[in-house]
Amino acid sequence: MTAKIIDGKAFAENLRGRIAGHVARLKSEHGITPGLAVVIVGHDPASQVYVSSKAKQTVEVGMASFKYELPEDVTEAELLALIERLNADKQVHGILVQMPVPKQIDPNKVIEAIDPAKDVDSFTPANVGKVQIGLPGPVSCTPLGCLMLLRDQLGSLEGKNAVIIGRSNLVGKPMMQLLLRDNCTVTVAHSRTRNLAEVVRQADIVVAAVGRPEMIKGDWIKPGAVVIDVGINRVPAPEKGEGKTKLVGDVEFSSAIETAGAITPVPGGVGPMTIACLLANTVTTASLIHGLVPPSDLTA
Ligand code: NDP
Repeated sequence: MTAKIIDGKAFAENLRGRIAGHVARLKSEHGITPGLAVVIVGHDPASQVYVSSKAKQTVEVGMASFKYELPEDVTEAELLALIERLNADKQVHGILVQMPVPKQIDPNKVIEAIDPAKDVDSFTPANVGKVQIGLPGPVSCTPLGCLMLLRDQLGSLEGKNAVIIGRSNLVGKPMMQLLLRDNCTVTVAHSRTRNLAEVVRQADIVVAAVGRPEMIKGDWIKPGAVVIDVGINRVPAPEKGEGKTKLVGDVEFSSAIETAGAITPVPGGVGPMTIACLLANTVTTASLIHGLVPPSDLTA
């Protein structure tokens, strides 16, 4: 069997098209232009590229983009003061502080300072709780993107055995909540899980969010399973020339493609969905802030 390759880039492009439609309606029918503020501290080149890409896509779907670049030595008080200003700014409906922040800043204080109504990555305790009990609001971008890809592949997820590898607050735990809400039977594996290969072999759905290059092998995958590879790992690529690198996932793609029914590639799978879902969440928060029902096709 050779797996179907799930084209996250094409799916994200289609999603951005739908987001642009909702943004146009918010503008024409309600006079609302959703606005996303992204805050970046320091000059990490990878984060800079990522933030620029977010800003470009924000503008492309018709939303307002606000970018704040703070120096590496900014104080925690200065960053918190900026967040306060953005919380109060009526043009801003979503606030994202690019993580990680430098060591003089407590990331938990940053997260808790963001108004939950504008917390487009669903980091704040209030929004984590809302996801858990199924209230409307923003859902963590990466798990939301994974869920959309899974529903597109499988239709209903009801009754499927899902194994998530990784239990981070960013990916693993919110993914667990979303799959439970879709009536999967969910197992969450982590670094202390025993017989991981055997656990993964039970899964109709595998979501890998570990951060270890190609750790999950093809013979761990149940034939026909849908594999969502969240991992992004940079590894040496001597075949491309001396000193060159490439991105690989947490799943060994070359072997997994032989057993899986469908699989996301890295790059071009989950990554593009994460940014598209950030934009989707900004439409959701803009709608809720103005007392409107958010578009159902943009959320969980
Ligand atoms: P974290 O480091 O926060 O969490 C990693 C998880 O993997 C932990 O729960 C850890 O277990 C578990 N783990 C580590 N080693 C093993 C092992 N040997 N066996 C089983 N489980 C293990 O990572 P994130 O969740 O933030 O990210 C995971 C990956 O996803 C990274 O590669 C990251 O770059 C990528 N990512 C990609 C995104 C995208 O848009 N595509 C967005 C976000 C992340 P324990 O809790 O026991 O330590």
